[in-house]
Amino acid sequence: MHYRTLCLIKPDAVERGLSGAILDMIQNSDLKIIAMKMLRLTQAEAEGFYTVHKERPFFDSLTRYMSSGPIVAAVLEGEDAVARYRALMGATNPADAQDGTIRKRYAVDVEANAVHGSDAPETASIEISYFFSALDLAGWPA
Ligand code: UDP
Ligand code: MG
Repeated sequence: MHYRTLCLIKPDAVERGLSGAILDMIQNSDLKIIAMKMLRLTQAEAEGFYTVHKERPFFDSLTRYMSSGPIVAAVLEGEDAVARYRALMGATNPADAQDGTIRKRYAVDVEANAVHGSDAPETASIEISYFFSALDLAGWPA
C-alpha cells in the first residue's frame, strides 16, 4: 500500500546541523518528501502533539525538549512508507537501535533521539494534519 507518514527532525538533531544528513538517508531509502517546513513548537503545541503520552512519566520532559528549539517537519510518501520509515529510524532507545538506522547514527539518548515517525497509517494522517494543511499538500495526487 502507498502511504504517507510524518517525519520530525527533533531539536537536538537540528541544533547539531544533522537535518541535511537525515533527509539524505530518507531520500536514499526511496521515501519521497512531499511537504516540509522548519518551525519551533511552544510547549503547549508539543503537548498537543504528544497527547497520547500525557500520563507517561516522561511527558513533561519530552514536551519541554520538543519545544526547546526549531524542528523540521516533513511528510514522506511511498510504498509502505509508515513501516519503512519506522525501520529506517530504528528503536526509540538508540542503545537498542540497529546499525544503519538514523537513531543509531545520530540519537543522543532515549529522549533526544533525533527523529519522530508516525507509528501507523491512522496516526500518520492525524499527525500530518497537526503540521500541514490540505493546501500544503495540494500539489500531489491523494
Ligand atoms: N521518550 C522518552 N522516554 C521514554 C520513552 C520515550 O523520553 O522512556 C520520548 C522519545 O523522545 C520518544 C517519544 O518520547 O521518541 C515518544 O515515545 P514513543 O514511545 O512514541 O517512541 P517513538 O514512537 O518516538 O519511537
Ligand atoms: Mg511514537
